[in-house]
Amino acid sequence: MKTEITNKTYCIITNYGNKLYITEEQYNNISKNFGEMEHIEIAGQGIVNKKYIVMIAKASEIKKDDRERKGEWKCQYGHWHKRGEKCGHAEGAKYI
Ligand SMILES: [Zn+2]
Repeated sequence: MKTEITNKTYCIITNYGNKLYITEEQYNNISKNFGEMEHIEIAGQGIVNKKYIVMIAKASEIKKDDRERKGEWKCQYGHWHKRGEKCGHAEGAKYI
C-alpha cells in the first residue's frame, strides 16, 4: 500500500464507522466551537450531525488502532509486522 503525504492529520469517526480525515486547522476550529455546534461542516466533504460523532482523534492513533485490530503488531524496532509474522530485526533482517 502506498503511503500518501497528507496534511489531514486528524480523523472524525462516526457511529456508522465512517472516517473523515481533516486538517489540524479544521480540528482546532471544531474543538474550539464543539460545545455550541450541532453540525460540523467539513470543507469539501459534507456536514456531519454532531450526535453521530463517536470521536475525533489523531489519524496516526486511529491507523495504529486499525492495524492492531487486524492483528498486526509493532516490534521494539518500530516496524509493523503482519499477524503471525516473526520479527527478524534482532537478527539484522532489513525491512523497509
Ligand atoms: Zn521487527
